[in-house]
Amino acid sequence: MSEVIVRFPPSPTGLFHIGTARTVLYNYLFAKKHNGKIVMRFEDTDKERSKPEYAENILSGIQKLGMGWDSEVLYQSQRTDIYKQYIQKIVDDGNAYFCFCTTEELDAMRLESEKNKKPFRYPGTWRNASKEAIQQKLEENAPYVIRIKIPENRGDITWNDAVRGEITIKASELDDFVIAKNFDTPLYNFCVVIDDHLMHISHVIRGEDHIPNTPKQILVYEAFGWNCPVFAHIPLILNADKSKLSKRKNDVSVDNYLADGYLPEALINFLALLGWNTADEQEIFSLEELIEKFSLDRVHKNGAIFDLQKLNFLNGYYIRQKTVEQFADTLEEYWRQYPENALKV
Ligand code: GLU
Repeated sequence: MSEVIVRFPPSPTGLFHIGTARTVLYNYLFAKKHNGKIVMRFEDTDKERSKPEYAENILSGIQKLGMGWDSEVLYQSQRTDIYKQYIQKIVDDGNAYFCFCTTEELDAMRLESEKNKKPFRYPGTWRNASKEAIQQKLEENAPYVIRIKIPENRGDITWNDAVRGEITIKASELDDFVIAKNFDTPLYNFCVVIDDHLMHISHVIRGEDHIPNTPKQILVYEAFGWNCPVFAHIPLILNADKSKLSKRKNDVSVDNYLADGYLPEALINFLALLGWNTADEQEIFSLEELIEKFSLDRVHKNGAIFDLQKLNFLNGYYIRQKTVEQFADTLEEYWRQYPENALKV
């Protein structure tokens, strides 16, 4: 395998979530196993919801769990000039175009699709507009977005997912989607491709909720004539009742688990098994052993159930492994970090 480079690309819109920690862990294990590198990149283009304190919490959480990264810490919000150049290029190359449809026009089209019980697909209203028509609108300062121009006859989009095997998304499910609201406001599916390309990312390992984004990103790679990385979509984490582990329903920040007295090594062991196992169903792993044994082809395709009893079992195991001195040190450190909880224990 040529050089492995993965990325940790959280959006700093909340505390370090246990599900994000699992994605980070899988990337970490894969990179370490292949002597690769990890790029730390915050996807903080959502200006309202992104907060520096969340970014801090995520960085410290990754370190508290015993992991790390190899790059400087990058922020998409500081890369607008780079994205701007690529928006210009994709427009100049004729692979993206200005769309001046108003909200009212789009709402009317959506309503029409709903009436016909068809999912809304942008019909390409501005796809073949003349240069003059576009120029005139720009001179009028009319609001616009920039849409990708999916090549005619591009057909279905297929990729070989390192976890799920071949995935095909039908061409009929895609339309000329928006890549930027304007030159200063590129959107996620655009920025992520520019960054992954410029950062030489070899493997994109992320939650399966991103599967619908992948064909869009493939189209952006193709528009620039770039090679795609390997995509690996890992299963969602589910509650015992199979509902999605959400931020609202569960108090699922890594800090919360650490404050409840779960040891980092127990959390790492638990998270590793949330969607992956070895053929012999081994249960106890150190981080080093996980690095040695981890492989994407043993990541499960089905949702992973968050089993608190298992976490309790693992935590008990790691506590009992400690000598009296180690246990005393752990307690001291715990009380130092969470003085408010010391009285509860
Ligand atoms: N920022 C995205 C998230 O937090 C990650 C996107 C990706 O891995 O491409 O879900």
